[in-house]
Amino acid sequence: MIIQLEEKLSDKKKEDIQSKIKGIGYQATEVKTQKANYLVCIGKKEFDIRLIGSLDGVSDVHRVSDSYKLVSRKWKVEPSRIDLGDGVIVGEGNLALMAGPCSIESEEQVRKVIEHLVATGVKIMRGGVYKPRSSPYAFRGMGMEGLKMFNRLCRENGIKIITEVMQVSQIEEMRDYIDIYQVGARNSQNFNLLDALGAVDKPVLLKRGMSGTIDELLQSAEYIFSHGNEKLMLCERGIRTYENAYRNTFDLNAIPVLKEKTHLPVIADPSHGIGLRDYVSAISLGAVMAGADGIIVEIHPDPHAAISDAEQTLNFGESAALFSKLKSTYDFLHKLN
Ligand code: PEP
Ligand code: MN
Repeated sequence: MIIQLEEKLSDKKKEDIQSKIKGIGYQATEVKTQKANYLVCIGKKEFDIRLIGSLDGVSDVHRVSDSYKLVSRKWKVEPSRIDLGDGVIVGEGNLALMAGPCSIESEEQVRKVIEHLVATGVKIMRGGVYKPRSSPYAFRGMGMEGLKMFNRLCRENGIKIITEVMQVSQIEEMRDYIDIYQVGARNSQNFNLLDALGAVDKPVLLKRGMSGTIDELLQSAEYIFSHGNEKLMLCERGIRTYENAYRNTFDLNAIPVLKEKTHLPVIADPSHGIGLRDYVSAISLGAVMAGADGIIVEIHPDPHAAISDAEQTLNFGESAALFSKLKSTYDFLHKLN
């Protein structure tokens, strides 16, 4: 059960509500987010929910039986939108396009990508400065120095930044230089990191774990939300299966299923989802047709020379064609609905 408390509720009224909940055998956890105060209540007993709904200080109450609650569509029917400022909104009704290299490599590379994004009307640039790499000897990113350069060039051109945060200590150092924290597949269940991201007032894109189920992704999202951060979006980036004709198996099924289970925006990552550039466009279009709210895609001025994920990276000609097809597909779908 979730109870939304009225704004500016007195301590006395809150205590009365809490003791009523205890009285019916439920355990309440208080959750304060940017938007509201909630009591998330766990218990098994059947009771008449109107008993709670009629209490002084309660503005809304719902029974939510899922293991994730605040992110569930059973609690919030309306889709959530995330406002990044300057008219950039992620969530239903807006197609979010995020594009950029796997890794930030140099000032020249960032400049060229920004120029391409500006020319094609893409408002959000991706690029890792802390890279999770399977081998410790591979390039692991330019770190904060790279992020500061990335930030300076994006700010000069009105472009928003999404980049991966790998550990708790990076949250604070990155905060003023980014617009969206990306939680990578390898950290999808790093619960300490998720808790800490719940405490910041900045949007988070949470990726599905490589072998994570949809339920696990939603429970990870609940960690962030229940620690106070409602500015949250999910990302399907492919899962590991027995199939080895491509890097990962992009789980198209996950898109409509997530859209039904949660009110959070759902973004597709076709680059890691299939891992081969020739198929990235087809998977992107499939994801948007299936209901994705946006795409995060790897592009590079010279894909073959990309330091990481070269095989799945698009060049500017390919990405411009893709953006334009995605926009027409999205508009077409919205006219149908
Ligand atoms: C990335 O976005 O470059 C990345 C490392 O993604 P993932 O966490 O999905 O593997
Ligand atoms: Mn990558």
